[in-house]
Amino acid sequence: WSQSSLSVVVVGASGDLAKKKIFPALFALFYEGLMPPDFQLFGYARSKMTDEEFRKLIGNTLTCRIDARQRCEDSQAAFLARCFYCPGPYDVPEGYADLNRKCTEQEALTGKMVANRMFFLSIPPNVFVQAAGGAADNCSSPTGWTRVIVEKPFGRDSASSAELGRGLARHLTEDQAFGADQHVLNRKPSGCGLHTRGLLSSQGSLCCLVPSPACLLDPPHRRCPRKQGPYATKRSFSPYLLQLAFLTPYIVSLDGEAILDEKVTSDGGAIHNETTIQSMPFTACPPHPLPYVSSDGEAIRNKKVSLDGEAIRNEKVKVLQSMSQVALEDVTLGQYRARSGAGRSGGAELPGYLDDETVPKGSLCPTFAAIALHINNARWDGVPFLLKAGKALHTRGAEIRVQFRHVPGNIFKHKVGPNIDMTTNELVIRIQPRESIYLKINNKVPGLGMRLDTTKLDLVYNDAYSLELPDAYERLLLDVVNGDKRLFIRDDELEQAWNIFTPVLHEIERRKVAPELYPYGSRGPVGAHYLAAKYNVRWGDLTEDEI
Ligand code: NAP
Repeated sequence: WSQSSLSVVVVGASGDLAKKKIFPALFALFYEGLMPPDFQLFGYARSKMTDEEFRKLIGNTLTCRIDARQRCEDSQAAFLARCFYCPGPYDVPEGYADLNRKCTEQEALTGKMVANRMFFLSIPPNVFVQAAGGAADNCSSPTGWTRVIVEKPFGRDSASSAELGRGLARHLTEDQAFGADQHVLNRKPSGCGLHTRGLLSSQGSLCCLVPSPACLLDPPHRRCPRKQGPYATKRSFSPYLLQLAFLTPYIVSLDGEAILDEKVTSDGGAIHNETTIQSMPFTACPPHPLPYVSSDGEAIRNKKVSLDGEAIRNEKVKVLQSMSQVALEDVTLGQYRARSGAGRSGGAELPGYLDDETVPKGSLCPTFAAIALHINNARWDGVPFLLKAGKALHTRGAEIRVQFRHVPGNIFKHKVGPNIDMTTNELVIRIQPRESIYLKINNKVPGLGMRLDTTKLDLVYNDAYSLELPDAYERLLLDVVNGDKRLFIRDDELEQAWNIFTPVLHEIERRKVAPELYPYGSRGPVGAHYLAAKYNVRWGDLTEDEI
């Protein structure tokens, strides 16, 4: 960076995501010293604002982590002085030409020969192509790289996603486009925020819990590569231990669960849901630990292991290619209904989805989906992958559970304590709340008797490290600055994922499949339990006592 500057352009800078996530994340990277010294931030949107008004808007969004309060507070003025705003439309080249002038002017003041530019499209998907085109064609850096972040998946099915992809490809090369995984980033409602952060967690933490591809394919005596710095990837579990745990004969099933936002009916959430619910089953994209547990013969034979972004994404595509298309009988859809006031609602009536006046009358839009997926390769043959995601459920969170087979001929099976269902050992990778990993095991209760209980061996991140974890958007933005594509979705990955779901999405639409109603604040529709039972497993539900 000694020879170059960096301009970050937030397109849609007046919007919710920019204020809530992007500006605070850029600021955190800035005060942590992770942005290049000659970094500047440009806002672009249709709303009229001066630079000063823009700085005020950003100033209101900035927060400090407890462990970095001093340097954070000291950096606010310096950060705001680097912020500039350019109003303009998304679909007219002249707007981007103005933006280009403003960027060029400020970049010249840095005295650097090379000016790199990074665009974040924080706008509704219907203007993605115009905005990407406008920015790329009229405001690309003439001296350095230009990178554009677009949140994926977009579209409603294979065809619409491909059309958007082709639209972007007319203006951006593969190198320039960074498809951020919305499910990875989105902790908010819109229907999808599942559990995909298991391995290379966007917060850079859980990644150390599951062996990297290198660890999985390398002989056990070899060390995993280590990264240095604040987002360092360390190896805290023996990869050999987890290699053994991940041997299919011991695994009954893998569950991925995302219990989404409880606040479901305000600020147009329902409308958003109506238009994006098609991507709900998309949450069932494979949990990230799996792709790296590749059974690819070639890779194993050649010990070709790498943390390189392309190598990892190749493995993910291979796993997606091995997955069967989802069958309708492997899907349970639900919609939450009103629940009369009691318990945690403090006596207030909890409204149903259809009670929201922005929801079309009689809508069949699901607010819950449970799916069973199958990976047809040698390693995962016969292991069901059960995934569920929903709104207005009993609790909020996201996790992956690996359920292990029972010990054959268990001699302790009659020694369980009261109300303890001592059925299954589980490895739980909890993504939220309270990132953690734990192994649920059966244990003898201390004392003279022989009573068994279920307990856990755990690592809770907040307890083990007194650091406040960075937000997912910090990781994302830093990766784009560094050109690291490991966490980004490649087009062929998206295409494969859509291929798995598109037929069943069309079938649901064609047959007008009615979702099963479940009460607001419950565990979801009963059908989800039948779906699990069909595969001889039970959902290992998110429970408060395990948090
Ligand atoms: P937003 O507030 O609705 O829109 C962002 C900006 O885009 C608005 O300030 C507005 O700016 C412009 N805009 C809004 N509607 C438009 C339209 N129909 N045509 C053209 N411009 C329009 O959206 P957001 O919540 O910030 O989200 C931005 C993107 O991130 C979306 O693709 C969303 O799906 C995704 N996302 C959002 C969140 C979140 O938590 N908000 C989370 C994950 C993903 P001007 O009127 O000033 O031009």
